[in-house]
Amino acid sequence: MKNFFYDVAVNRPLPQLFTYESSKAIQIGSRVKILFGKKELLGIVLRKSSQPEFQTNLILDVLDDQALFSRHQLELIQWAADYYKHPKGEAVHNFIPPYLKKLGNTFPKTITESVHYSITKSNLSLTKEQKTAIANIQNITGFNTHVLQGVTGSGKTEVYLEAIESILKKKQSVLVLVPEISLVPQTLGRFKDRFGDICYAYHSGMTPKARMQVWEEAAIEAPKIIIGTRSSILLPLKNPGLFIVDEEHDKSYKQHEGFRFSARDLLIKRAQMLDIPIVLGSATPSLQTLRSINEGRYTVSHLRERVQAGTIPKFSIIDTNLQALESGLSQQALVEIEKVLEQKQQALIFLNRRGYAPKFLCASCGWVAQCSSCESNLVFHHIEKRMICHRCDSRFAVPKHCPSCQEPSLIMSGQGTEKIEQFLQSRFVNSSIIRVDRDTTRKVGALENLIEEINTHSSSILIGTRMLTKGHHFPNLALVVIVNLDQSLISLDPFALEDLGQQIIQVAGRAGREKTAAKVLLQSGFPDHPILAVLKNGKYEDFATMVLKEREENKLPPFSFQAILRCHSRSIKKNIDALNKLANVNLSGIELFGPVPASVAKKGGNYFHQIILQSSSRKNLSKNLELILKKIQADKRSVKWVLDIDPVEY
Ligand SMILES: [Zn+2]
Ligand SMILES: [Zn+2]
Repeated sequence: MKNFFYDVAVNRPLPQLFTYESSKAIQIGSRVKILFGKKELLGIVLRKSSQPEFQTNLILDVLDDQALFSRHQLELIQWAADYYKHPKGEAVHNFIPPYLKKLGNTFPKTITESVHYSITKSNLSLTKEQKTAIANIQNITGFNTHVLQGVTGSGKTEVYLEAIESILKKKQSVLVLVPEISLVPQTLGRFKDRFGDICYAYHSGMTPKARMQVWEEAAIEAPKIIIGTRSSILLPLKNPGLFIVDEEHDKSYKQHEGFRFSARDLLIKRAQMLDIPIVLGSATPSLQTLRSINEGRYTVSHLRERVQAGTIPKFSIIDTNLQALESGLSQQALVEIEKVLEQKQQALIFLNRRGYAPKFLCASCGWVAQCSSCESNLVFHHIEKRMICHRCDSRFAVPKHCPSCQEPSLIMSGQGTEKIEQFLQSRFVNSSIIRVDRDTTRKVGALENLIEEINTHSSSILIGTRMLTKGHHFPNLALVVIVNLDQSLISLDPFALEDLGQQIIQVAGRAGREKTAAKVLLQSGFPDHPILAVLKNGKYEDFATMVLKEREENKLPPFSFQAILRCHSRSIKKNIDALNKLANVNLSGIELFGPVPASVAKKGGNYFHQIILQSSSRKNLSKNLELILKKIQADKRSVKWVLDIDPVEY
């Protein structure tokens, strides 16, 4: 009897596939049970193999009577593993729905009732720009990356909905990516209002069973609309017709652990493989996307006007060198907040720092409270009465005396959202103050409740971090105060500046979205910084043009290609030695920066160091990385390695 041989992907950080034997034919993409060493593991059959020269183990069991992955899905995963130079087995396992990661679970047989879509038209009339954008998208045949660049409030979603409608009529399905789980409910709600029960959510906050059900529903019948986060890019859609990536600039699309892929970039690749259009929407497109437009690789539609007559907010810069601040707020800011409250409107204080005070130190000897495993400064949290490490979440009791010199001279400096909240509460006693940050939104549904509260308190002060700037509409918001933007302004990480510009424009976009003309105050100790001068006009395009020019002059991405090679161990010396050894590999056409400590220099007792590799040619970067990876694999492992291709932060 003839036996069959298969290459199987195993969830191990090893570059190769493993050949197994079976007495029966197995569909490519199937889940199988195999013996790996002495352990029974889940494997995915990736391809047929010829009989190897060495003795092979038998595949113990084929777990389902249908393949989990189609050839198209496997092709995409393998492309991604090659591109990001990540072990194939781990890359494949990253995309297995959690329910089927358990050996004991099998493909559930859900019998679904056919649902048909219904269309409930909105009674909003479309602007001329919206109509043009819709026509542009509808006219795309085959693969094309189309950017929908629209200022906040310009009605991007309405464009998506209209474009989707014509896809549904062709009985094709649509996948819509949003950057965060918290944005799924509102998007899903809006889509359901329009198209009824063919709309589904898919994200890691759902139970494995619920996700499995959506996985199957999507595969069985078209048309379907899936609203998902980055874990949904590989969903087995039957007859897909359109992909949409909303807020395409958002860094959350990059996976920051394990298999470091960009969900946006992979979905573009998938659209190309399927030969269907993909739409990237944003008020503040990434510089990478803008360059692709400039080079003619992507097409673009602009929405420059807001749907409702609301005007673009007025920006002003407040020089913080010239005045004493009260809990980080300038006198002008306080005067403006008061005005806004008198007019029964809302003010938003934006700062990306939660907790009470970001620094806890001794005034007599200079001791600074630091996390014992990360060495990052501990943030004092007034409500919890603890010092908390924002990197590893370790909590420490607050000392009464300096642990170093025993003096009772401990002080706090800087301000976080808690401190600003406390100060504003004492200053505007009768106003409602709503704080939105990770600490106030830990519980399921907490963010939705706070957003609801914001919308019912038409006159209030909102204090928030980045999470408040994403996708929420505050029609009564008349003032935005941006506190402590200086750190990003002077950061050595070029991506920090891009991020800052996007955040300022995004947060400003929350304001004055209906009839109110809003003000945006930028508090800075560098009031003459050229970046602030362009941001002051409130036009993202001007900001982006300026930063792109700088990047081009410095040959930084998107005018070159980068990879970060990061290692960690318990010893700084081991890290530096390991990185220096790699610097000696014969590299050509590569610029090398480092070794330097990573931005997270220590975590969980491990030190992190890195080198940045850069080349004007992606091919060349890739070729050299392969040399380096070979060298790493050949060496005895004294440190652990992580490779980040196309990094979005240093
Ligand atoms: Zn001291
Ligand atoms: Zn820590």
